[in-house]
Amino acid sequence: MKVFKFGGASVKDAEGVKNLASVLKEIGHSTTVVVVSAMGKTTNALEVVVKNYFENKTELQSSIQEVKKYHNEILLDLFDNENHQVFKKVITLFDELSALLKVNKSPDYSFVYDQIVGYGELVSTTIISEYLNSIGLRNIWIDVRNLVKTDNYYRRANVNWTETQNLTSSKFNKSVLNITQGFLGSDDNNFTTTLGREGSDYTAAIIAYCLNAESVTIWKDVPGVLNADPRYFENAQILHKISYREAIELAFYGASVIHPKTLQPLQRKEIPLFVKSFLKPEKPGTQIGKNITLEPMVPCFIVKKNQVLISLSSLDFSFIVEENISEIFSLLHQFKMKVDVIQNSAISFSVCIDNIYNNLDKLLQHLKAKFKVTCHENVSLYTIRHYNQTAINQIEADKTVLLKQLTQETIQIVTK
Ligand code: ADP
Ligand code: ASP
Ligand code: MG
Repeated sequence: MKVFKFGGASVKDAEGVKNLASVLKEIGHSTTVVVVSAMGKTTNALEVVVKNYFENKTELQSSIQEVKKYHNEILLDLFDNENHQVFKKVITLFDELSALLKVNKSPDYSFVYDQIVGYGELVSTTIISEYLNSIGLRNIWIDVRNLVKTDNYYRRANVNWTETQNLTSSKFNKSVLNITQGFLGSDDNNFTTTLGREGSDYTAAIIAYCLNAESVTIWKDVPGVLNADPRYFENAQILHKISYREAIELAFYGASVIHPKTLQPLQRKEIPLFVKSFLKPEKPGTQIGKNITLEPMVPCFIVKKNQVLISLSSLDFSFIVEENISEIFSLLHQFKMKVDVIQNSAISFSVCIDNIYNNLDKLLQHLKAKFKVTCHENVSLYTIRHYNQTAINQIEADKTVLLKQLTQETIQIVTK
């Protein structure tokens, strides 16, 4: 089987959904699993719903209304007949969402987040599956939560591979087109879990792994994987071929075109990954696979904005050694900080982190009890793979460099 993944940008409006249908017609769609994300920026909009539920109840209804209205406009553009069953199905899903919030007793933000935000994918796949059926692209809708089993680490759940493997191999119909959700899973109690923002790529890889798929194609609004994020860098160029190793490095450092967890399951079974343009499906895009040298061999730039650089030194000029480092890491773990760069010297320790869970104040409070702490918020972390001096100069021009770290293939620069 083949696995395709269409992200939010590809189905942000009715035109996008129609384009998805033409891609399937052009490329072929039998024995295919199509993994779809929430439409456009729906996940962000649902994040606002969750925030309002906890912090601003007066805005709750209007934020839900906004999500409904957005989808309703897409529905009206796709279906002439307002009596089509899809309208009822989508209303039912939104009713479920509202009912969930009404009866919820849990104060756990991350738990509630997963129960609510997951509706983005449930609604998008319902609309897309019904639309494809309506134009003769017969397909079956599959609830991915019945296949992808995870722990209950809400908002960044970990896959239970054995259970997922057992469930997945039997659920897909190999002779037809299968439509399912990215990003979602469920825990032992069958509560919805999510795999981390942008996690739909990972879902495609999980399914491909469990099905021993022949390939995965991620359809994007860019021609393929570029050597830099085109939103921040001019003249980004396409990388025609990348090894799994290179792709894992790029994704790990933050090249947001592929979710970092996507590569490992594919690499383990040597399933090729293609990143292609949903606007130009006939073009080859980028191919990621085994034993491939980067083509063309050019510096690759990755930027992560909004990072936090924390520098610690001992209060009494004593060394920073294994003991305090392990203490620092246990706090970073406790407050769910994602660590991007580490640097240490005899009496100081610096770490560049991503404050995903908004726990910085609590972390700093604990650190300040033990260390002298300097903290720079809102810094940018630049990573250049296969760097040269011109590439470094390009990044450092007009910026204050706060930290720099070099290995043979990679340089990381934290700037203000
Ligand atoms: P999806 O709709 O599948 O979730 P995303 O918007 O998350 O797609 O990812 C595609 C976007 O990733 C592109 O529009 C581009 O702006 C950005 N991007 C960042 N880094 C890269 C890169 N190295 N190559 C290509 N695109 C990149
Ligand atoms: N809809 C989710 C998100 O926006 C998952 C994804 O798009 O990959 O993060
Ligand atoms: Mg995305």
